Amino acid sequence: MQKTFSIIKPDAVKSGKAGNILALLESNGFRIVALRMAKLSQSQAEGFYAVHAERPFYGSLVKFMTEGPVILMALEREDAVKKLREVMGATNPANAAEGTVRKLYAESIERNAIHGSDAPETAAQELQYFFNNIELSQL
Ligand code: GDP
Repeated sequence: MQKTFSIIKPDAVKSGKAGNILALLESNGFRIVALRMAKLSQSQAEGFYAVHAERPFYGSLVKFMTEGPVILMALEREDAVKKLREVMGATNPANAAEGTVRKLYAESIERNAIHGSDAPETAAQELQYFFNNIELSQL
């Protein structure tokens, strides 16, 4: 079993797709280990996306991620990091496969409904960024 970190982004929460996305994740074998709704602060979003700080879309991405509530999740299944990336679909919904979260619910390359860690090491860092050890281990 492996854990990964995911966010239902502000666009999908606002458009009322959070329940559909959770159902899709569960039907793909993910167990919800921890879940919390939050409105990210500017510094939380900047820190989370620090790896993209030099990219031209960084400011816009931080603004988007702080515009409304998000749902933070720790998810578990076999090969969770890779499987979540598959269920999410490509970053740009125009390139996302049929049936993926982004194909179904993303509005654009930026407003793309869901985040998922891109590697096991990133997953560990991102889980620690938003959840404490008790939340990650108690259930
Ligand atoms: P992900 O791992 O598929 O989420 O993609 P990245 O790590 O490359 O990018 C992080 C997030 O930045 C994406 O999920 C989008 O919300 C946003 N993003 C990525 N590429 C672009 C882009 O070219 N333009 C804009 N405006 N946003 C982007």
